[in-house]
Amino acid sequence: MSTFCPACGSDSIETTKKKHMIPIVYGNPAVFDEVLEKCLVCEESGDFTGANDELIDKAIEVAKKQSVIDMLDALSQNGIKMAYMERALELPTRTIARWKGGEVSAATLALLRIIRTFPWILEVADAHFDLSVANYRLVVEAGHVILKQPHPDQIQMHFANEKVKFSAHITFKDYPSFPQSLMEPKIERVLGTGVDK
Ligand SMILES: [Zn+2]
Repeated sequence: MSTFCPACGSDSIETTKKKHMIPIVYGNPAVFDEVLEKCLVCEESGDFTGANDELIDKAIEVAKKQSVIDMLDALSQNGIKMAYMERALELPTRTIARWKGGEVSAATLALLRIIRTFPWILEVADAHFDLSVANYRLVVEAGHVILKQPHPDQIQMHFANEKVKFSAHITFKDYPSFPQSLMEPKIERVLGTGVDK
């Protein structure tokens, strides 16, 4: 099937391909060869056959499906069993097997990205989204994040909303060489009303 120049109708067309990559969340990039046609008579250039849109869509779909498998593998390597995930999320059994087999919706992808980012959300789900469990997990996980900082013995916290702004600086020292009061954050009131230490 010949391709014709849309400007002059010539079939003297030079086709080149250029590799492109589109980033995919928690996955390898979608890779595709963009097709670029150039008329050798009038020098008009572009995607004469309109093939690129389909190529891009297909490459993204393939890469997203692969990212689902990658995310599930990562969760599995962190000791999260698929059966546990299905139970916690009240998904029908074999749902995850179907995801692995390529039956992936936009909602599947969104859900897995959230779980991949915050795997402990599964424990909250398993507790039927009990708010006290949710808040407890949030604080525990915040502690993990803080302790992974380069200088976990020196913690700076900042909080601001439209009414109050405060900063806290906490220094940890090895027990028992310091009085307990050193552990209490020093809170500076910057502006606003209502909160006194
Ligand atoms: Zn032309």
